[in-house]
Amino acid sequence: MSTPARPVDRELVEAAAEVARTRCRGDNHTMAAAARARDGRIVTAVNAYHFTGGPCAELVVVGAAAAQGAYELETIVAVGDRGRGVVPPCGRCRQVLLDYFPGLTVIVGDGERVRSVPVAELLPETYVWADHQLDAE
Ligand SMILES: [Zn+2]
Repeated sequence: MSTPARPVDRELVEAAAEVARTRCRGDNHTMAAAARARDGRIVTAVNAYHFTGGPCAELVVVGAAAAQGAYELETIVAVGDRGRGVVPPCGRCRQVLLDYFPGLTVIVGDGERVRSVPVAELLPETYVWADHQLDAE
């Protein structure tokens, strides 16, 4: 069962690519992410690598967006430094993004084959954190 193809937000890909080109540095910052908020603005961030589990760029961009008052994200993409192009989210990020934004669109694929997919398609049959919280009221 497939859903209709979602258009690729090329401006968002370019925003992430620009940050990857100009702001990634050394081994600490190797990935850039860009997210489109519901109000249309674009928020960008880079990862903060650390062996103890420093956050991926996708997670930093979630916090950076919130710091700007953008709590609802509609689309996200990550781009690697050194010309690596679009990089799909890791497993942890897929879970976080699904829990935060169940309707999120994620841009994946490389080169001419980038495409937009619902985050839920990246985690079939997943655990949904919200489904297992006891109602506090
Ligand atoms: Zn990740």
